[in-house]
Amino acid sequence: MSFDRRAFLGLSAVSAAGLLTGCGPGEARGAASTLIRPEPPHPVPSPDPTQTSEPSESTGQQEPPSLEELQAQHGQQQPQEWGLETSGVITSFTPSGNQAVLTLDACGGRGSGGYDAALIDSLRQAGIAASLFINKRWAQENYGITQELIEDPLFEIANHGTQHKPLSVTGQQAYGIPGTESLEEAYAEIMDNQQFFRDSFGLELPFFRAGTAYVDEVAAQMAQQLGTPVVNFSVNGDAGATYSATEVQRAMREVGPGDIVIGHFNQPDSQVAAGFGQALQEAAERGIEWMTLSQVL
Ligand SMILES: [Zn+2]
Repeated sequence: MSFDRRAFLGLSAVSAAGLLTGCGPGEARGAASTLIRPEPPHPVPSPDPTQTSEPSESTGQQEPPSLEELQAQHGQQQPQEWGLETSGVITSFTPSGNQAVLTLDACGGRGSGGYDAALIDSLRQAGIAASLFINKRWAQENYGITQELIEDPLFEIANHGTQHKPLSVTGQQAYGIPGTESLEEAYAEIMDNQQFFRDSFGLELPFFRAGTAYVDEVAAQMAQQLGTPVVNFSVNGDAGATYSATEVQRAMREVGPGDIVIGHFNQPDSQVAAGFGQALQEAAERGIEWMTLSQVL
């Protein structure tokens, strides 16, 4: 076991500011008092084949382990945790000022392949940065838009899985959706989309979020070893794009420094764009500075 983790106190700082009282809707709000930040946060693959397990703090680079190496390391492990804040999952960060991060998912698949142009346009007009988690199916259905989003320096692209499955090594479910059934399937759920973006756009995706955001701690550790640590959230901004505009605004009033917000940009018929449009302006008036994940992790 070589997982190198460091606890830090981002949420405590937020709590001290009184911002955790009256938690907004969403399962993932404020449950964790100890947060995990992997080191290095997102290593770049190195050509050195001898570096396979121990992350190097001096260089921040390592060769990702192969599936065979991961099976040898984790194959006998039985996960003990299943949820949104399992060990190794990043849900917030230590701010150096008033920074927060807006993450928006594009899930793909039936009924989830749309593009919320109004939301993305409002971010562009306001100059608000965001980290966009894109599923392989969505990128295939929206290839030209994906290319445009990649080219926009306001946005960072991250990995939202291949088939949008909860990330399990034992077939756990979330909301009735079957998760990946083995270490091998979980590996493919991460790496097939990673390979698709590499082949199609020449892009390495630095973070991973599973479909439904559910993950077990063995899969989360594997994702970290593969250079795509799992990032979930501390504020649920849209409850899977089901909130009314008013509910989005109410949830977003809870955002403080160090928070990571989740929303969606694949449901153009929802009220997400209307809600975020107003809420992001309000947050800016409170002094919140929107950053990408790579800028703060
Ligand atoms: Zn999704």
